[in-house]
Amino acid sequence: MRTTVIHASWIVAYQDGEHRILHDGVVAFRGDRIIHVGQEWSQPADIVVHARGKLVIPGLISTHGHISAQAGDRLVLDGGRRDLLRSGFLNYVPRRLGGGPGFSAQEDADASIAFAFYSLLRGGVTTVVEGGNTAPVGEAMVRLASESGIRLYYSPAFAGGEYFFEADGRLQLVRDERMGLEGLERAIEFIGKYHNPDNRFHGILNPDEFYLSTPRMLCETKRAARDLGVGITLHFSEQLFEFHDTLRTTSRTPVGVLAELDFLGPEVILGHCIYLSGHSMTGYPYGGDLETLASSSCTVAHSPVPLARRGIALQSFQRYLDHGINLSIGTDSYPNDILGEMRLASYACKIVEGNHEVARAGDIFNAATLGGARALQRYDLGRLEAGAKADIVIVDFNDLAIGPVWDPIRALIHCATPHLIDTVIVDGATRVMNRELVSIDQADLLARVRQSTARVWGAFPTCHWSGRGAEDEFPVSLGEWKEPRESIQ
Ligand SMILES: [Zn+2]
Repeated sequence: MRTTVIHASWIVAYQDGEHRILHDGVVAFRGDRIIHVGQEWSQPADIVVHARGKLVIPGLISTHGHISAQAGDRLVLDGGRRDLLRSGFLNYVPRRLGGGPGFSAQEDADASIAFAFYSLLRGGVTTVVEGGNTAPVGEAMVRLASESGIRLYYSPAFAGGEYFFEADGRLQLVRDERMGLEGLERAIEFIGKYHNPDNRFHGILNPDEFYLSTPRMLCETKRAARDLGVGITLHFSEQLFEFHDTLRTTSRTPVGVLAELDFLGPEVILGHCIYLSGHSMTGYPYGGDLETLASSSCTVAHSPVPLARRGIALQSFQRYLDHGINLSIGTDSYPNDILGEMRLASYACKIVEGNHEVARAGDIFNAATLGGARALQRYDLGRLEAGAKADIVIVDFNDLAIGPVWDPIRALIHCATPHLIDTVIVDGATRVMNRELVSIDQADLLARVRQSTARVWGAFPTCHWSGRGAEDEFPVSLGEWKEPRESIQ
């Protein structure tokens, strides 16, 4: 096994239970493990990397990412139906109740999945938890994750119901517990077949949405996760009516229901987790939910960018943190830009709280590294120390976008973009080098995913209740140029 040594101007090194800045130091790794972090390396090395003016950080962890091209989310932007109460996906995901193809029927699944993995890697994500995908693409997901080199937590999501559009556009939720339980069985089988940590693939059970789950489904998921020794993730309290319907039918908040079912625990990652008691939009200004989440040791996967696109914010990152909840960062739909999520996590909280001292850069950085590792109960990820996995990201600070550096973590959170990611190493293998993907032709991948997504958009009238084209339902920002008949030459 070869030994690689990286010399860098700044290294985020893990020491005594926290990240610290090591100036002009080294990180050495052999095979898939870090063997040394410190001021110097005096042993022989096979490969020496000089990262002068660069920052070395642990691979970032996205605890909630939708592995796809996001053909639908890209349509909605700041539009969408008012009666869907800012739930973006409900604008396009439901099929016609009378039958017909689903929104993604025309999609090239391989191109769409590969696009997501490679763009995440390009942005410095070395580990991703798939946030919820019920499509039968499990084999492609595992194969393409392995090809790309990313570390993936996934199994096909299962739901105890489905959304449909009536012919006149009314939204119907058709519940089906049997479908959910059968999906759970398939997910258990899938994990039994594919779970392979040596190949960076880990099972995690995913009952897609709390709102589409029954108590029986949740309890059986909890039991299956314990038997398999895997975690659980699901969308939770992402929709306003989910909070109110749950409150009305159970006289408990969604958090209260999970607590009563004894569902919460350190193996559970709650995607989004927005509408809790005390959130101003719920009209339920009472305490309790944050305390319950904290005492359960579960994790919140926070993706501020898609929330902001819908005019929603967590209330707030700092309140959750102060209550002792484990916070992590998710990349959700698009763009696959975890640095962008980290920056907005800080800004959105400062605005919500009206306080510049909250959601500090160090706390955000911890969420994207140590918080994600704790979510996965992986104490060998999200940190640079001897014995940890060789998941390493080098960020090139020799750039006008960064400018003068007082504090490399503030510079990273407030100034860095994915294009400054110089090198990405996962499990000791280099996947991005000199700001380029190593193992795939980026132009070809981009052409494939654009072709596939254009087909999905072109077929919009066949799947949407309205029969209208995507261009009418979700108009683009600017009108088309009209060439004048006569022009002055
Ligand atoms: Zn999601």
